[in-house]
Amino acid sequence: MIDNSVFHNLKAIYHTFGCKLNFAETSTIARTLAERGITRASGAEIPDIVVVNTCSVTELADKKCRQTIRSFHKRYPEAAILVTGCYAQLKSEEVAALPGVAVVAGADRKMEIDRFLEQYLNEHTQVTEVCDSREITEFRPGCSRGDRTRFFLKVQDGCDYWCSYCTIPRARGRSRSGTIDSLVAQAADAAAQGGREIVLTGVNVGDFGKGRTDTFFDLIRALDRVEGIERFRISSIEPNLLTDEIIDWVATESRAFMPHFHIPLQAGSDEVLALMRRRYDTALFARKIEHVRRAIPHAFIGVDLITGARGETDELFERSRRFVEGLDISRLHVFPYSERPSTKALDIDGVVPQAVKHARANEMIRLSEAKWTAFANRFIGTGRPVLLEHPQADGRPMAGFTDNYLRVEVSDATPEMDNTIVNVRLESVNPETETLTGSIIRQ
Ligand code: SF4
Repeated sequence: MIDNSVFHNLKAIYHTFGCKLNFAETSTIARTLAERGITRASGAEIPDIVVVNTCSVTELADKKCRQTIRSFHKRYPEAAILVTGCYAQLKSEEVAALPGVAVVAGADRKMEIDRFLEQYLNEHTQVTEVCDSREITEFRPGCSRGDRTRFFLKVQDGCDYWCSYCTIPRARGRSRSGTIDSLVAQAADAAAQGGREIVLTGVNVGDFGKGRTDTFFDLIRALDRVEGIERFRISSIEPNLLTDEIIDWVATESRAFMPHFHIPLQAGSDEVLALMRRRYDTALFARKIEHVRRAIPHAFIGVDLITGARGETDELFERSRRFVEGLDISRLHVFPYSERPSTKALDIDGVVPQAVKHARANEMIRLSEAKWTAFANRFIGTGRPVLLEHPQADGRPMAGFTDNYLRVEVSDATPEMDNTIVNVRLESVNPETETLTGSIIRQ
C-alpha cells in the first residue's frame, strides 16, 4: 500500500526518447503519478521529479540519454531523476552512476515507478530495480494522447526475433500482447475523450497474440468496429507478418484502417538480410509491396533501411540501392548501422567505416526524397480526406494528414474545424518540408 502523503505538492516533468511505444508508456506513467497527487510542472515551475523514459536503439541514443540526464541535473539540482526504458534496462549501472538519478527502473518495472519513488522519498537512497529480461513476461498496457486528434495504443511488447544487430529483445523481453477485449475498451475510451485516430504500437506488432489462438488480424477486425474512431494506422509491421489477407481486408472491407503501411526492409540484398537474421528475403519483400500497390494503388508505403551493416560490401550496397530504387514505395527511414554491445552482429566480419555508412545513408535519403516527391505529385489536383489538427503556433495554415499519410496545409481551414475530417483538393508539393498545400472542396 503506497502512502500518497509523501507525494504531497510534488511537481513532475516527463521526457521521452525513442519509439511511439515509449510515448504511450510515458503517458501511462504520468497518469499513475497524477493519481498519486503529483501534478505536472508548468512552464516556469521547478520540478521536484524528472521522469526520463530512455531508448537504446543506437550508441547515439545512449549518449543523448546521458546528456539529457546530466543537463536536467544541472538545471534542477534538487530534483529526483527517475530513469526507465531500454537504456536503463540494458545499462543500469551506467545510468545509476549519473548525477541526480534517484530511481533506475528496468523495462518491466516502469509502471511501478510510484512505488520506487515512495521508497526513495522515505529512505533517501537510490533505488535500482532491474530484472533479467528473460523474466519479463507480463504485458503492461499503455495508451498516450499525441494531441487531441491522435492516440497511440500499445497492443504488443517485446520480440522473439533476435535480429543480429538488435538489442530490443534483450531490453524488452519476450513477445507478449494485450487482450482484444481490453484493447477494444481502451480504443472506446480514446473515442470518448475525443480521439479520432489511433496508431497501433508495439515492438513487433504483427506478432500480436503469440502463444494464444487470437491473431493480429482478429485484433484489427475487432478494433475496426469501435465507434467514434475514424482512423487506425499500424505503426510498423514485419513483411513476413503482413499477410495477404490483412492487405486485402484493408483494401476492401475495413471501415477505418488507413491505406498506409510501414514495413521494415533493413537491407536490399539477400546476403545482408541473412547476416541480419531477418525472416524474409528480397523476393518476399518485393511481393508484399506489389500486393499492397495492386490492392490499394494510393497507399502510402514507408520502409526502414539500415546502411553500412557489417558485411555490406560496396557491391551489396549497390544491389540494395538498385532494389530499393525499383520498389514502388513512398518514403524511406534511413539509419546508419550502429554497433550494439552483446549482439550477434559483432561476430560478423566486414566492418564498414563510419564515413562510408553515412555516405550510403545520404545516398538513400536522396532516393527517399525523390520517392516521396513522386508519390505526393501523383495526387495533385485530386481530393483527399484530411483530419485537421490544432492550429499551428506560428500562424501557418492548419494542417493534417490525408488518409494516405500526406501532410497537407489547408489554406482555408478555420479553428472550429480542428479534429474534423474535411475533403481537400491537393494543389502543390513542397519537397523540402515534405508538405503539400490544398484547399477545402465545398459542395
Ligand atoms: S524484429 Fe528484429 S529489429 Fe525488430 S525488434 Fe525484433 S529483433 Fe529487433
